[in-house]
Amino acid sequence: MNQNNFSESHDSESPDAVTTHSRLDGEPVRFGSGWMSGVGGLILGLVGLGCVLCFQFPDWFTMPQLREYYPLPVIRAMLHLVLVAAFLLGSVSLILRRNKLMGGIAIAMSLAAALLGGSQVPVHGEVTPEGPFLGLDWFLLNLIFWSAVFIPLERFFALRPEQPIFRHGWRTDLTYFFASSLLIQVTTLLTLKPAQVLFAWTTSASWRSAIASQNGFLQLLEILLITDFVQYWIHRLFHRIPLLWRFHQIHHSTETMDWLAGSRLHLVDVLVTRGLTYVPLFALGFSDTAMVFYAIVVTVQATFIHANVRFCFGPLRYLLATPQFHHWHHSDQPEAIDKNFAVHLPIWDMLFGSYHLPRNRWPSSYGVTDAKPPHGYLRQMLYPFLSKSKSARVIAEMDKQQKNRQENR
Ligand SMILES: [Zn+2]
Ligand SMILES: [Zn+2]
Repeated sequence: MNQNNFSESHDSESPDAVTTHSRLDGEPVRFGSGWMSGVGGLILGLVGLGCVLCFQFPDWFTMPQLREYYPLPVIRAMLHLVLVAAFLLGSVSLILRRNKLMGGIAIAMSLAAALLGGSQVPVHGEVTPEGPFLGLDWFLLNLIFWSAVFIPLERFFALRPEQPIFRHGWRTDLTYFFASSLLIQVTTLLTLKPAQVLFAWTTSASWRSAIASQNGFLQLLEILLITDFVQYWIHRLFHRIPLLWRFHQIHHSTETMDWLAGSRLHLVDVLVTRGLTYVPLFALGFSDTAMVFYAIVVTVQATFIHANVRFCFGPLRYLLATPQFHHWHHSDQPEAIDKNFAVHLPIWDMLFGSYHLPRNRWPSSYGVTDAKPPHGYLRQMLYPFLSKSKSARVIAEMDKQQKNRQENR
């Protein structure tokens, strides 16, 4: 069983762990070591360079649905500040740190962004309304919005105040966040289209117009009930069937809960779960507006229930899935195994015997109790497709390399 003590910052097994030394350059991560300025510079450099690339190649890197809404003068002013801050933070890290990797990359990214036009970069290229794109702008917007909401929320109302922002596994989860945003067009197409094409005809036009003409709030409630019922059983099957568990196990491999942890989902898990969850929505014919509100509720609730916040929500917790409810789903404690499958409404767990929510008590550890999946995005994407013996060899080799690196420090 994978025990994880949140007050402990040292994790010799994890290549992503925030230990006393950074895996990036092997140097200390304490305050004043140039680690925070380096990471800050890297993130701002990435945001700045990404933003300039969106201006340079809008057809490739921006979502057609969002382009007309961007307040360009405000974005340019913000971009200017971001690039200056990335350069300054990179310089601070360069001065404080013996290893110049982080500071150097942060400065290089801010200079590359400046060379590509900086905050005054014109919008280049032919912009077509449809066509393949990568959601780089979607990633940047989500990163800015969710970190602005959740980083302060998790600081002020932390369940585990000692848990750092750059905790164990944050780079893996950020990569999931990045990849899922970039691939938004592909995943939307692969999950919405099959349900729409294959099931939209299954009900009569009069039935569909009766459903779509209901009050919007009522439609949203119906959608939440129906989708969570479907999601509940798919989720339960992902836990029950060994082949499916290998994919879903990736989501449970996180040993530290925060808003970013919910991003860790294998692509197959995402496509199967979402693809099947959308089927009743298209079959029943809910209105587009109700579906958009449902998409917003799913995103907000799925992020929030993973957050490192201590809210218990009083009696509301019997009606809605809360962080406490979903934290128990992620726990590796025996009392919590295969419990709390719902994402929106705990009623399905209450009805089908999988409800577990001890009053005012939170799990003490998270993770999986069987074979531990490897660390890192690509390894985790490959892991479910490998045989058990092959996976064991890959993980053993990875652990050996990690041990060697630590001994060489
Ligand atoms: Zn699960
Ligand atoms: Zn989860």
